[in-house]
Amino acid sequence: MFQKILIANRGEIALRIQRACRELGISTVAVHSTADAEAMHVRLSDESVCIGPPPAKDSYLNIPAILSAASITGADAIHPGYGFLSENASFADMVDAHGLTFIGPSAEHIGMMGDKIAAKTAMAAVGVPLVPGSDGELPDLETARETAARIGYPVLIKAAAGGGGRGMKVARDPSEIEDAFRLARTESRTAFGNDAVYMEKYLDKPRHIELQIMADNHGNVVHFGERDCSLQRRHQKVLEEAGSPAISAVQRDALGETATAALRKLGYRNAGTLEFLYQDGQFAFIEMNTRLQVEHPVTEMLCDVDLVREQIRVASGARLGYEQRDVTFTGHAIECRITAEDPVTFVPTPGRVTAYHAPGGLGVRIDSALYAGYFVPPFYDSLIAKLIVHAPTREAAINRLRRALDEFAVVGIKTTIALHQRIVNDPEFQAGDYTIHWLEKFVARG
Ligand code: ADP
Repeated sequence: MFQKILIANRGEIALRIQRACRELGISTVAVHSTADAEAMHVRLSDESVCIGPPPAKDSYLNIPAILSAASITGADAIHPGYGFLSENASFADMVDAHGLTFIGPSAEHIGMMGDKIAAKTAMAAVGVPLVPGSDGELPDLETARETAARIGYPVLIKAAAGGGGRGMKVARDPSEIEDAFRLARTESRTAFGNDAVYMEKYLDKPRHIELQIMADNHGNVVHFGERDCSLQRRHQKVLEEAGSPAISAVQRDALGETATAALRKLGYRNAGTLEFLYQDGQFAFIEMNTRLQVEHPVTEMLCDVDLVREQIRVASGARLGYEQRDVTFTGHAIECRITAEDPVTFVPTPGRVTAYHAPGGLGVRIDSALYAGYFVPPFYDSLIAKLIVHAPTREAAINRLRRALDEFAVVGIKTTIALHQRIVNDPEFQAGDYTIHWLEKFVARG
């Protein structure tokens, strides 16, 4: 087992990883930008190293500074969290080349899944069903037109290097294809430095269902069930549930069997998530995330598992030590992503938190690095807290979530707590009756 882990991240996820390390008796190294010198992840770690100025490209994405911090402090592994360097294959390679362990999959798998065209090809080859679409990259407008005519409008043009919902354009009919193709390419080039795009059928009423996987280095793969992440704004998740109100235990088992068999064939290791769109009783793969995800706590509550601990254990070479039949699913869990944003306009609201009171009680979990007096810096993602509830039934979880949101006080800046309060009180949400398009309409209704 590792003695010391450097956590190449900030905020709630850096704290989350520290907690798992502590419980395993592993000491921690925090890295931080000058803007984060007072941050909770720095205060609570055993050691910390300043790695640069506020912009992420000079600090949390600064590979030489992070590797130097690991070497100076004698860390033997690096946990990348999510975002930042977590899906950077060459970073994973460099960590290995420095004799350290990257807590995640191999650089080869990160690279493969980071290219969404390659990911779809690889998954199709091991028996995973896909959203109908182009045969790989769309080289030109003519191919885009032909493909759209073949699969039928509406279609979605997506960036091969995509992430965060960027580089995605819908064409509802042939008159929109040219603009969609050019805009997707331009946006993709600007955001990712790569203008390769591909096409998928645009589904009109899918749910976003994803499956949590964990694999060791010895060929053992299990799944921890699905999360329903259909509540999205601009293709970004806002609230997640485990299990999905739309999926039966039989469907979960079948999807899990397909996915674990596929990853066993690919020789995948560590944590991963397969994302699917689910419509008319069919699952269709869209992409794989080769890292821990923001919404992992709902799975942890449902399955009573510490996924970060599992990531660390398997990265150290340990065997999973349990099989699929040992994984249990109890009750229902819901997570709200609370951001420093105006709950109506979604404009970011960095600034000083003057008072802070987190909810508590049975079945309530807060993953957050906030404290009274903290200044939310303007440089990073606006996620400031995750509120997770767990209860025996979905209805009880919703009641628990409502009362926890009512207890939650973040004073000094606007947050999206008020948006979550509206969602929780909505009858359609309460009925579990929603698709990926529901939240945009709900927000527009005001
Ligand atoms: P990113 O990596 O940018 O997050 P994804 O491929 O994961 O992109 O898609 C993000 C979201 O966009 C999905 O959760 C879904 O809401 C929507 N989406 C993606 N593909 C389709 C599609 N073919 N039809 C309809 N919606 C889609």
